[in-house]
Amino acid sequence: MSLTDKISERVRAVPRSGIREFFDLVLAAGDVISLGVGEPDFSSPWHIREAAIHSLEKGQTSYTSNLGLLELRRSISKYVKNFFHVEYNPNTEVLVTVGVSEALDIAFRSLLNPGDEVIYHEPCYVSYSPTIYMAYGVPVVVNTKGEDDFALRAADVEKAITPRTKVIMLNFPTNPTGSVMPKAELEGIAELAKQHDLIVITDEIYSELLYDDRVHHSIAALPGMKERSILMHGFSKAFAMTGFRLGYACSPPELTEAMMKIHQYSMLCAPITAQIAATEALEHGAGPMEQMRKAYWRRRNMVVSSLNASGLSTFIPGGAFYVFPDIRSTALTSREFATKLLEEEKVAVVPGTAFGKAGEGFVRCCYCTSEEKLAIALERIGNFAKRYQR
Ligand code: PLP
Repeated sequence: MSLTDKISERVRAVPRSGIREFFDLVLAAGDVISLGVGEPDFSSPWHIREAAIHSLEKGQTSYTSNLGLLELRRSISKYVKNFFHVEYNPNTEVLVTVGVSEALDIAFRSLLNPGDEVIYHEPCYVSYSPTIYMAYGVPVVVNTKGEDDFALRAADVEKAITPRTKVIMLNFPTNPTGSVMPKAELEGIAELAKQHDLIVITDEIYSELLYDDRVHHSIAALPGMKERSILMHGFSKAFAMTGFRLGYACSPPELTEAMMKIHQYSMLCAPITAQIAATEALEHGAGPMEQMRKAYWRRRNMVVSSLNASGLSTFIPGGAFYVFPDIRSTALTSREFATKLLEEEKVAVVPGTAFGKAGEGFVRCCYCTSEEKLAIALERIGNFAKRYQR
């Protein structure tokens, strides 16, 4: 008997994440400076950990409402109103999930019939295309370009719309490029969504991590968009809470109810300890978050100027904690660059192709590493780039 034959065709067809595959090589290489994993190097701020510890001391170890603790949903609603300028009713329009990861999965599963198309932009976060596909949807890619600092243009989105399009998926600031969305393009995409009666899913996970006095705009806040958007956000990045596995989806009641049905049967609820910690983060986390954001900003400046000086042309990303240098001045593909850099200099970066074909010619460097380690890694990358310059 072949167990592989028993696996569903869709799951068999989905490749493993290119990041994971690459990180097996990193583990084997040992003693490496990693600019690889997209995860804060800070522990969750102490007041958040303390809230989690106290909740355990008090014996708060039960299930919660399927939607999540009402106190947390109220905090989310208040936070989203202040930060994104969209109002959601905590009783009917907020669902607490196990990270943005779960929110994505249940959103696609609740919206898509077999063959429905989802337009999304590449290079992008590795899970969009497989998650759409496993929900029986058809992922439709719009490529963004290095020459255009990986901005998404409404005109390109328009060209990808067909009678089967149901959803447009956005992520700004973007993983892996750090690109932010010009407001005019966001407005253009909102008009397209209204004109073609489409749902927009907006993954806002990096929205607090913006630099150079930028102000974040969510498409859900534009006129006529709340009623056709699912706004997703989480605690992993700006609050440095990846291990708590907590996120949320805000949407009109019909969509929240649909997602809640899947969540109820598959997850039941998000962990209560994480929900209590997240409430603390929203209520009192602004100060520590700002300190981390400033540290990321300093590191971004350091990394961008060093890579440019090394001949790896790097645009200044407006947000997130990634830079996406152009490595085409070397004679290497993205994969060769990352593999040889790892072997020869013991520095891990991720090949741009892990984020879609449009990532060829680029690598992703995550600067969630101390400035001391970054300085060493950048010197090694500089030596490496010189060696392989065309
Ligand atoms: N969305 C984007 C764009 C990400 O980069 C990530 C993680 O790297 C996620 C979602 C997953 O986030 P979470 O930890 O909330 O599941």
